[in-house]
Amino acid sequence: MTKSMKSHDGKSTVASQNPRNVMSSQTFFTQAWSVDVLTLFPEAFPGVLGHSLTGNALNAGKWELNTIDLRAFGVGKHKNVDDKPAGGGAGMVLRADIVGKAIEHVLKVNSAERPLIFLSPRGRPFEQALAQKWVTSPGVILLAGRFEGIDQRVIDHYLMEEVSLGDFVMSGGEIAAQAMIDTCVRLLPSVLGNPRSIVDESHTSGLLEYPQYTKPTEWKGKRIPQVLQSGNHQKIAEWRRDQAEIVTKSRRPDLWNKRR
Ligand code: SAH
Repeated sequence: MTKSMKSHDGKSTVASQNPRNVMSSQTFFTQAWSVDVLTLFPEAFPGVLGHSLTGNALNAGKWELNTIDLRAFGVGKHKNVDDKPAGGGAGMVLRADIVGKAIEHVLKVNSAERPLIFLSPRGRPFEQALAQKWVTSPGVILLAGRFEGIDQRVIDHYLMEEVSLGDFVMSGGEIAAQAMIDTCVRLLPSVLGNPRSIVDESHTSGLLEYPQYTKPTEWKGKRIPQVLQSGNHQKIAEWRRDQAEIVTKSRRPDLWNKRR
């Protein structure tokens, strides 16, 4: 499993023993793709990212994960990080000075030019194209909000980009961070066993994926489409293409129209 080292400044590093050379036709960096997550819940990481494909890649040093505990930068005996919203209203807001100190810390430890992202339901919707862009950087810095979010001045000062996982509101940015990191890590060269699976899948080519089948050949009276058992690769490719178009047109006319 992943190795975790804690230190007094609230920063913990997971794995990345032997960064590998990750070269391909795109510009990728030769060091491990480096993710820093600022959060009030560092113990929620690596979470699901510690398993399977992303977990193996983490252990192999193909990417590296640092969590920065916002609480470590809190003020007073109770290490307070939040306060009431100026102007009144419900909930609490993460303080500008606290979050600012945490960001300064991250930038000091790793000065590589990485996108600085605030996870926020107000942000630009996350999509495959954005993940593809992020993996051409040396990594990414993600700030996970809690409560009502963070003081606007932090977003403005550091020119943070706000990115949303979708049009819904969660109680914190940690799940959004893990979803976005997972999407990126599987795009890193040498992480996916068969790079073809990236080329064919939903949201890469602009089409949703065709239906998939496997054993048994017959199940509850339903048979696998004949063409998939024909061994005729050209026919199979045509069938899959047709199916991908049908699925995309009917489910996501927005994607279909964008293609054309
Ligand atoms: N008051 C805010 C919501 C705060 S939710 C608003 O109305 O916009 C608390 C935190 O959870 C946010 O700061 C953000 O970091 C995270 N979060 C919630 N929903 C999210 C989403 N759809 N995408 C990304 N982050 C989200």
